[in-house]
Amino acid sequence: MQIIEIYRSIQGESSFAGLPCTFVRLAGCNLRCSWCDSEYSFTGGVRMTAEEVEAEVRRLAPAGLVEITGGEPMLQERDLVPLMENLLARGYTLLLETSGERPLAGVPRAVHKIVDVKCPGSGEGGTFRIENLKTLGPADEVKFVLAGRQDYEFARAFNRRHRLDERAAGVIFSPAFRKDALGARDPSHCLLDPRDLAEWIVADGLNVRLGLQIHKFIWAPEAKGV
Ligand code: SF4
Repeated sequence: MQIIEIYRSIQGESSFAGLPCTFVRLAGCNLRCSWCDSEYSFTGGVRMTAEEVEAEVRRLAPAGLVEITGGEPMLQERDLVPLMENLLARGYTLLLETSGERPLAGVPRAVHKIVDVKCPGSGEGGTFRIENLKTLGPADEVKFVLAGRQDYEFARAFNRRHRLDERAAGVIFSPAFRKDALGARDPSHCLLDPRDLAEWIVADGLNVRLGLQIHKFIWAPEAKGV
């Protein structure tokens, strides 16, 4: 497997936000979202066997939460699925961050998928593989990263059309972060003001969670490995 980093930190997103977590970041992505904060994962990394990844995860923490992220982890599905099965067998709670552009049918059911449906403002709108909706279960969450009102309206319509809040454990609307955000931690680093988003969600009576990437409020927005 091609691995960028394996580290311990605090889970910053999803309904698991705030919990200590071991992150396994896989290299490579086939999308190029305009606000991507993980461009350093597109190339490079180190070659490791699935057994070596598992050993490092166990060294960092013998139990608890593990998130598989990237890049797009499902580009390495052949090695990733057995790794996920082994980690589940060892009792870890497993999260998988994915764009939903790759097929998700092979992901073990016990994995909590966090599926990021790309909105128009990402520049990668329309890449979500619609048949992946059938793979969503009560352990899964669907996330929309929003750069403005147009993205909000896209996400609201998509959510209603596909009844996501009935199919999945949760739906997350999250303001996109500015790529050039530096220094002092501040909500102005978001492309969409979280307060505007909160007001829209309440006004429309949506059953969705407003998600803030809390790691970007704890550490400097440009920090890696956190
Ligand atoms: S899918 Fe994720 S890693 Fe890939 S470009 Fe988009 S935000 Fe970045």
